[in-house]
Amino acid sequence: MKIICPVCKKTTTWEENPWRPFCSERCKLIDLGKWASEEYRIAGEKEEKKEKDEEREDKNK
Ligand SMILES: [Zn+2]
Repeated sequence: MKIICPVCKKTTTWEENPWRPFCSERCKLIDLGKWASEEYRIAGEKEEKKEKDEEREDKNK
């Protein structure tokens, strides 16, 4: 079974993969680090940006 690493989007395999669902130890550590680091905050900023886009749409009406 092929899976896509959620960190780097590289195709990897589920079987015989100790780092699944990641492609490597590196990606697993990156993903774990997200929750405690700035990358998690960047994800929050994306949500804010979405709200701003909606505001802009209202102004165009
Ligand atoms: Zn990866």
